[in-house]
Amino acid sequence: MTAPIVIIGSGFAANQLVRTVRRMDALIPIQVFTADEGAEYNKPDLSHVFSKKQTAQDLVVKTGEDFAKEHNIELFANTLIDSVDTQAQQVMANGRPHAYSKLVFATGAKAFVPPMLGNAVEQVITLNSLQEYQVAEAKISRAKRVSVIGGGLIGVEIAMDLASSGKVVTVVEPNHRLLANLIPEFVVLPLEKQLEQQGVQLALGNDVAEVNHSGNAFAITLSRDQVVETDVVISAAGLRANTKLAMKSGIKVDKGIMVDARLQTSVANVYALGDCAEIQGRMRPYLQPIVLGANVLGKQLLGQEAQLVLPPMMVKVKTPSYPIQLAGCFDTAVHWDAQISPTGIIAKATDEDHQFVGFVVAGKQVDQAFPLLRELTTSVMSLRNSTGITRIIQ
Ligand SMILES: Cc1cc2nc3c(=O)[nH]c(=O)nc-3n(C[C@H](O)[C@H](O)[C@H](O)COP(=O)(O)OP(=O)(O)OC[C@H]3O[C@@H](n4cnc5c(N)ncnc54)[C@H](O)[C@@H]3O)c2cc1C
Repeated sequence: MTAPIVIIGSGFAANQLVRTVRRMDALIPIQVFTADEGAEYNKPDLSHVFSKKQTAQDLVVKTGEDFAKEHNIELFANTLIDSVDTQAQQVMANGRPHAYSKLVFATGAKAFVPPMLGNAVEQVITLNSLQEYQVAEAKISRAKRVSVIGGGLIGVEIAMDLASSGKVVTVVEPNHRLLANLIPEFVVLPLEKQLEQQGVQLALGNDVAEVNHSGNAFAITLSRDQVVETDVVISAAGLRANTKLAMKSGIKVDKGIMVDARLQTSVANVYALGDCAEIQGRMRPYLQPIVLGANVLGKQLLGQEAQLVLPPMMVKVKTPSYPIQLAGCFDTAVHWDAQISPTGIIAKATDEDHQFVGFVVAGKQVDQAFPLLRELTTSVMSLRNSTGITRIIQ
């Protein structure tokens, strides 16, 4: 009997892959091993659980058992894979070997907690999974004051949502502006103003040096010696791909598990998808690359050839009082053509060859995002067709 396809993980990447394979083949054996319960949920919903007063349980779309039954897979819930023998094509769980024909790492990533001193560092919360929210929800719900470490995409979304739910929020960000790695300053200034109007304190150009207990609460000491009293500290300072298991199995890793355009790792019959994967040198911790990647990988697993070609993809900053959407790559942008009004912004970036390379829309102008995405896609595709250059566009 042929060994099954084995998937490690039960997040969006694993579930999307299962759905894709099952659309093409109803019967091929699939085993899913996951360190958690295997419940299906929409992780981006974690950005607005506070204002919606949702518990972790409210976010569950389907139990692991139901998902497994519906898709005819064998689920090993609460089962950590300890090691992989890529020669014998086996994974080890609870001391027992399980053979695979093809193996997929869909092990996701961990939220990063920047190095800091103090006697309460262990109390810093992260919110990169349903389980982390479940552990923290009562503490956050009781808290009046919340400090968020990190003013990137997830940090600003969580900060605005906490403020909307009535908390007093402080955002600590080492850069001198929010979303510094994502969008230009002129787009982010109105967002900063909006957050301040909602009572969010922005401690920009600051790191957290120490977190200490202070009575029933915490005192965080910032690098500029300011001390903030807070009831909860949340770290939203970026992700680190879960690569340890792959690394100790002899699979090449860098920032993530390195894969090519077929989602194949450095080892035969082993693949990676989702937040754990570094696709052709880039991390892409978003849903759309997972959906497109699952289409390619599903075919590979069933013996068909396919290669991942990523079109320009939209990134949405889910800050409802001042939403922002963007696509493209601004590394090569030399000129911004921007229409700025009190209600919103449309900004298009071009490179030195006057090629349209990306856009940002904000506020009331977000309805321009899809027409601009179409224009950008056409521009990028025509460049690829005429020059053969596959420029990496977000
Ligand atoms: C607050 C928030 C908001 C977001 N908003 C958006 C958005 O608006 N748009 C967007 O595109 N993206 C968004 N994202 C990102 C998106 O949710 C992720 O890219 C996606 O969910 C990652 O899925 P994954 O399956 O790769 O990883 P995960 O969901 O992290 O799943 C990893 C799985 O691997 C399992 N696992 C790990 N190691 C082992 C092991 N050794 N053995 C067994 N099991 C193991 C875990 O238990 C888990 O089931 C957001 C993320 C967050 C945190």
